[in-house]
Amino acid sequence: MKHIITTFPLGTRKIVPPLGILMSPVLADAFNKLIPDSQSYILLNTLDSYQDRIDLAPNFVQALSTVSIDNPEQIWIDGENMSQLFTTIKKLEKIGIMKEESTLVKRCECGKVEMLNEVEPNPKARFYSTYGDNMVCKLCETPVIPLREDCLTITYPKTIVPPKVIPDFMQKEVETHIKHIQKNRFLVSRHNRDCPTYTAISGKKYGLDVDFWWQNCLDGLAYGSESMAIHIIGSNHVAWQISLTYALYYSLNPEKNNNVELILPSYIINPRNIENITKGEYQDISPEFNRALLLSSLSWKHKNSDWNQSLSNKIAIKKTHEDQDLIQKINEYNSFNLLKLITNRKNISLYLKGKLNDPLSEQVYNKII
Ligand SMILES: [Zn+2]
Repeated sequence: MKHIITTFPLGTRKIVPPLGILMSPVLADAFNKLIPDSQSYILLNTLDSYQDRIDLAPNFVQALSTVSIDNPEQIWIDGENMSQLFTTIKKLEKIGIMKEESTLVKRCECGKVEMLNEVEPNPKARFYSTYGDNMVCKLCETPVIPLREDCLTITYPKTIVPPKVIPDFMQKEVETHIKHIQKNRFLVSRHNRDCPTYTAISGKKYGLDVDFWWQNCLDGLAYGSESMAIHIIGSNHVAWQISLTYALYYSLNPEKNNNVELILPSYIINPRNIENITKGEYQDISPEFNRALLLSSLSWKHKNSDWNQSLSNKIAIKKTHEDQDLIQKINEYNSFNLLKLITNRKNISLYLKGKLNDPLSEQVYNKII
């Protein structure tokens, strides 16, 4: 069976991407090295309705080289794959998951706040304030008012079989998201914003939400092979968006649901003295050291984890004579743990690609770290 290992689309928002965002590419690369007959992808999201971010993609690719990821063939950029995404979205319309309909939406003047009229106001929303049932946009300060117009909406199948989730404790959260997804209708067309356009079967053009474009990424990546397993890696902070991405793939490929796995590691928080990592000083450190720092900071038992303090201190003092052998051993130990993680569920012999070189014992690892 062929394995596709892909990151969730990563936003290219910063000139120097923070080290933490490179966690899912490092995991995809590490799993790719462990699983035979596998292909890994690193997905970049450059589409934006307000500001073109394609210029920042080369910075991200450069950052990937600081964690030993140098193969340009595995980079997939949403803005460069619009025809593939368009084809997938057309399939959704053909099978009736996406529909053109005249319906009530509510929207502010600038269009930043736009949703189906049936959606309840959320008092914690980022872009609008609520006053009872009334909403006001925080950007243009105009009220969010109901209007009837032609839109594109998505209604998912009533029964979506949830994917497998690693770690186990995230399974329930993903299942709750899936229940919400199959119960509700979602607006995907956008009125005022400068979004890439889609021509419906009727011939009418609509701007489509930029997030909806990339949420259709899986169908194209997995196209052409009947026997396929997909492992999609994000963080648990994007469990909702990954659940939507899965639901779209499931809608088009219900028979393949058994072979999709969501891998949702901890989100690494950035406390106190780790500023140098976010400012990009990691770019002066060896790629193997950066990988060791990322993988040894992971937790599969908690939603958030802290940077591995003793390793990051070595970066903080700009240690120039790193012990590469030791760092290599730490990475092997971390890879060995990843192998244990995925083989909890599956036959170890299916996965063991080559022999791992004598990983450190746990006691030795704990002593060093
Ligand atoms: Zn507004």
